[in-house]
Amino acid sequence: MSYPNKHDTTDDLASYLIVTPKGNILINSSLEETVPMLKASIEKLGFKYSDTKILLISHAHIDHAAGSHLIQQQTKAKYMVMDADVPLIQSGGKTDFIYANDVTLHFPPTTVDKVLHDGEQVKLGGSVITAHLTPGHTKGCTTWTMQLMDHGKQYHVVILGSLGINPGYKLVHNKTYPNIARDYEHAIAVLKSLPCDIFLAAHAEIFDLKKKYALLNASAANPFIDPVGYQKSVARGEKAFYKELKKQELSNG
Ligand SMILES: [Zn+2]
Ligand SMILES: [Zn+2]
Repeated sequence: MSYPNKHDTTDDLASYLIVTPKGNILINSSLEETVPMLKASIEKLGFKYSDTKILLISHAHIDHAAGSHLIQQQTKAKYMVMDADVPLIQSGGKTDFIYANDVTLHFPPTTVDKVLHDGEQVKLGGSVITAHLTPGHTKGCTTWTMQLMDHGKQYHVVILGSLGINPGYKLVHNKTYPNIARDYEHAIAVLKSLPCDIFLAAHAEIFDLKKKYALLNASAANPFIDPVGYQKSVARGEKAFYKELKKQELSNG
């Protein structure tokens, strides 16, 4: 689920390592206690944790960004964050439009080394990842895209930031985030426009990681190539958004 909770099990939190000849890009530091697991996983795969040169996030919530200060300290990776999520990262969640006073959802404030803007490309060792602003869930919620070549075929990869509407999110008369509904609508339009072959996301359950992983060696086709699953997921997010918006408009006038 997309609600940030310190006590969630970590197996729903998705991180991505993009390996290049000039070092690696890591997307999502996740929780502080996830960092040793990430380090162990990177090394188990045969890569070096110390080769992490760039650190990115899906959005500035505790479950995707709390471990960033540790990774930054340990690897000296450059932390690059979408402009509208920078105040959240640098305050450790204290400027959140809804969680400003919820200390259980705050995290260590972390210095952002580079501020990213909508459409900006992050490049390292021949790999190019594009940051798409898909706001609403947080003001700077980011969907990452890249293109991969495999056996002479090109694939569009989408790592969806989130369309989740957390409990307590006010879509109407929101004083701390007046444009929230318009932002979700923008995010939905952007996500619908992105070509997607390989569907990934900040949370495993959004793209059915467990089911797909189980199928990986069992089927000839790669289960992670799932353009239909992507469109369905965005359509579900859109439907849930308009249902909640309508409900809140009716009860709030
Ligand atoms: Zn989350
Ligand atoms: Zn979140």
